[in-house]
Amino acid sequence: MRTQVGIIGAGPSGLVLSHLLYLHGIDSVILEARSQAYVEARMRAGVLDSDVSALFREIGVGERMMKEGLPQEQMEIRFLGKRRFINWRELAGGRVNMVYGQQEVVKDFIHRRQQDNGKLFFEAQALRIRDLDGRPVIEYIHEGQEKELKCDLIAACDGYHGIGRQTIPADKLEAYELNYSFAWLGIVAQAKPSSKWLVTSAHERGYAMHSMRSPSISRNYLQIPLTDTVDDWSDERIWQELQTRLETNADWKLEEGKILEKTRFDIRSFVCHTMQYKKMFLAGDAAHMVPPTGGRGLNQAIADVCILADGIAEYFRKSSIEYLESYTQLCLQRVWHAQQFTWKMTSVLQRLDWDNKNAYHRQVQLAQLEYLTSNRAAATSLAECYAGTPLQTSFLPADRPRYPQIC
Ligand SMILES: Cc1cc2nc3c(=O)[nH]c(=O)nc-3n(C[C@H](O)[C@H](O)[C@H](O)COP(=O)(O)OP(=O)(O)OC[C@H]3O[C@@H](n4cnc5c(N)ncnc54)[C@H](O)[C@@H]3O)c2cc1C
Repeated sequence: MRTQVGIIGAGPSGLVLSHLLYLHGIDSVILEARSQAYVEARMRAGVLDSDVSALFREIGVGERMMKEGLPQEQMEIRFLGKRRFINWRELAGGRVNMVYGQQEVVKDFIHRRQQDNGKLFFEAQALRIRDLDGRPVIEYIHEGQEKELKCDLIAACDGYHGIGRQTIPADKLEAYELNYSFAWLGIVAQAKPSSKWLVTSAHERGYAMHSMRSPSISRNYLQIPLTDTVDDWSDERIWQELQTRLETNADWKLEEGKILEKTRFDIRSFVCHTMQYKKMFLAGDAAHMVPPTGGRGLNQAIADVCILADGIAEYFRKSSIEYLESYTQLCLQRVWHAQQFTWKMTSVLQRLDWDNKNAYHRQVQLAQLEYLTSNRAAATSLAECYAGTPLQTSFLPADRPRYPQIC
């Protein structure tokens, strides 16, 4: 099989890239290791920056999001029982983020690609990548047979554990990683959200977050010790801990319900500076990861593929490599901005001193929280970062109302 752009992975980055390339008139093929049912059910992120939801509308994949998504104009931060609000509509140029589950984004883009006769192969695992100097080839296995996909360019949108980055020789790979001394438990519950906006709590016992995926599904997170497994957390213990860590004044109550899913995951910050290797480009989690504290993962993945799609379009249309060659540099500026913001949010909200519960660290954390949530300049900075960096893309009008530029 032959295509212009071979894409590995049908997560948000691979799917959005394939659709953007289609709108540019460029052929692509997606190879996805998992089944369609699996990727459509995988619950992960769920808050879209206002530019990302504007992009989805602009490129014709925003109809269901506009009906079912839950607009968010602020978040709440709790500490010592206090409730503080960061309103980004007010502080960050009128922006409104959208709660819309990543699995719904994935479903919408898969269906749209299928309607447009896009070539998506599920249960098609990429095994090896070769000939990146000349005519690149992805060797993959599908329906029990080893096959080859010949392409002009490859986009590795295959997540943190994918083979794209592993194909880059170690002496050519520049990467930075930080692993944290705690893990997270992600909980999906059949419970009406108890708040219209995201609630985040820097509690003495550890971090907790309460948010939503729909009017009847709540999404919660708990910071847990690295050594804990899912089996250490019974449903009863989860609700008890969420109630304790989210506790505030008497007029707020956390609705409980049936727990549909609980997942334990490690928290890591990671940036691969080698986002281009010859004719292969890394995008999304394949190139960088952040703890979910700042809601950046999914939005960063979309930001990458916006730049990549325009670069690829220029490569084929004008036979110009210039924009494509600047892909890494354009992405890294945004990526490190998201890293610094998430790192700050992680240290302000989580118990980084989890192992020794250092009282000094906790006191500094409380002072930071007080400052961030009561000083207008500090709150504005936080709101701007949380509301997200404007997308760099030809699919949104250049003369759209601009809000504060970060980079
Ligand atoms: C448990 C969890 C919770 C999260 N919560 C949040 C959150 O609350 N907020 C937030 O902003 N972000 C969150 N994230 C991060 C967010 O989900 C990711 O940033 C986002 O999924 C990145 O999209 P992607 O397309 O780059 O990668 P992925 O979504 O990981 O997609 C990569 C795809 O490639 C496929 N693949 C891998 N290897 C191969 C291969 N060899 N051949 C073919 N296919 C392959 C995989 O099956 C997968 O479908 C969370 C992530 C996790 C894991």
